[in-house]
Amino acid sequence: MTTIPGTLDNHIGGREVPARSGERIQKFDPYTGKLQSQIARSSAADVDDAVQAAKAAQPGWAAVPAVQRGQILHRIANIMEARADEFGAVVAAETGKSLKEGKGEVGAAVQCARFFAGEGQRLFGRTIPSGTAGKLNLTVRTPAGVAGLIIAANTPAANVAWKVFPALICGNGVVLKAAEDTPFTAGWVARAAAEAGLPAGVLNVVHGLGAEAGEPLVLHDAVDVVSFTGSTRVGRRLAELAGARLKKISLELGGKNPFVVMDDADLDKAVRWAVLSAFSNAGQRCAAGSRIILHAPIYDAFAQKFVAATRALRLGNGDGDDLGPVINARQLANMQAAVDRARERGARVLAGGARADAPELAAGFFMMPTILEGVAAEDELTHSELFGPITCLYRADGFEHALELANGTAYGLTACIHTRSFDRAFLFCERVRAGVAVINAGTHGSEAHMPFGGRGLSGNGTREPGTEALDIYSELKNIAVNIDPSGT
Ligand code: NAD
Repeated sequence: MTTIPGTLDNHIGGREVPARSGERIQKFDPYTGKLQSQIARSSAADVDDAVQAAKAAQPGWAAVPAVQRGQILHRIANIMEARADEFGAVVAAETGKSLKEGKGEVGAAVQCARFFAGEGQRLFGRTIPSGTAGKLNLTVRTPAGVAGLIIAANTPAANVAWKVFPALICGNGVVLKAAEDTPFTAGWVARAAAEAGLPAGVLNVVHGLGAEAGEPLVLHDAVDVVSFTGSTRVGRRLAELAGARLKKISLELGGKNPFVVMDDADLDKAVRWAVLSAFSNAGQRCAAGSRIILHAPIYDAFAQKFVAATRALRLGNGDGDDLGPVINARQLANMQAAVDRARERGARVLAGGARADAPELAAGFFMMPTILEGVAAEDELTHSELFGPITCLYRADGFEHALELANGTAYGLTACIHTRSFDRAFLFCERVRAGVAVINAGTHGSEAHMPFGGRGLSGNGTREPGTEALDIYSELKNIAVNIDPSGT
């Protein structure tokens, strides 16, 4: 089998089925810019089929003891691990990343599956003392019902895992609307899950465009909980739709993450982390370090080293390359236009600034790693996420100013500070407005057992994955037991 087949269908009720309309979306290879495949273009009717399949299968799945549900998740993890080469190649081919990165993502997905498999042995509730004699109070987790999941394309294996495994361990039926730019990873996981013994209908995958296949999932009466990873713009719309229906929704949205370097930092280490924060995965990370805030005394020294390290980065899809293409032509065009507008407003380009023009990269969606300076605190580029390899330098007079700049956007996802001062480091973590604060490393996401999420425009307060994700995919039930002492 080729890594990427010529067509891809939905996975509904254990079967691979085309969209009812027969229509397909063209999916392009980010590395070559050429047509890669044609995927099902689903609409409300297909979403309804998938939701009905999930709804029908859910009670049977919920009746399987959570420990045994965990054993099936372990089997899925084993399949992903045993076929990491094949699965990683799918991730690499549909994103344009290297095989090494694709396999790295598979490793993260395996970790996530194993963590939630283990949660099947816990799914802890609480016992709560009552003020009434003879009364025992406890909480238990019950499945939410049908979970509607919508994900972004940036790290497809991790994005699928982050939502599907917690939803499954809690005993839900699942409908996943895959990202239209990375549909194959989702299809691969659905087939692996079937092979691992997940009953048909428990996990369904629909493909298609957001407005056509995503919105009907949020609007569907039989979907009990929605979890969305994507842009703030779409998240806000889905929050409105869910809110009007009093539907539970988890939103994992964008970021404009501050990377602060103080005058007492280890500059070489800070530069290494800044490069990774800003440019790894071609900057397509919600946690990307897109605002680099430099204490004035080290501004020039840091900028010089950072520019040199950035210019040395290698673009391509080989294991020795540093970054690949962005996911589609539209994103590339948006980035170029945003950089051009910033330039017109007086920003200076210190590195990159344009599409890569090397002959072997020119047809792909490659943006050169780009550093800008002279972008004002109130500028569009300071406040809007580009989701690509573009970062801006800002000058801070001191700690308070750096913190003010760090907190100067409406986002609040991740943040980091580089300093040797214990006090600066901890004061920063205490006062920065972010869901994740890091000392002397990069702005990055969490591991599978840690809660990740943001404030403000970065989310609505939920945390995924980690144990906290169980709160999204389960409903707590408080059970009260009255024990009659005369009953003996
Ligand atoms: P996007 O919002 O355009 O699309 C994300 C998903 O939503 C896709 O599956 C898309 O088809 C779907 N969608 C689009 N419009 C929709 C609609 N009207 N109704 C329902 N579904 C719809 O985002 P993108 O550009 O593909 O992804 C990048 C964004 O995702 C960035 O903002 C990034 O920060 C964010 N992201 C956040 C996290 C996190 O954990 N916080 C992780 C990864 C990515």
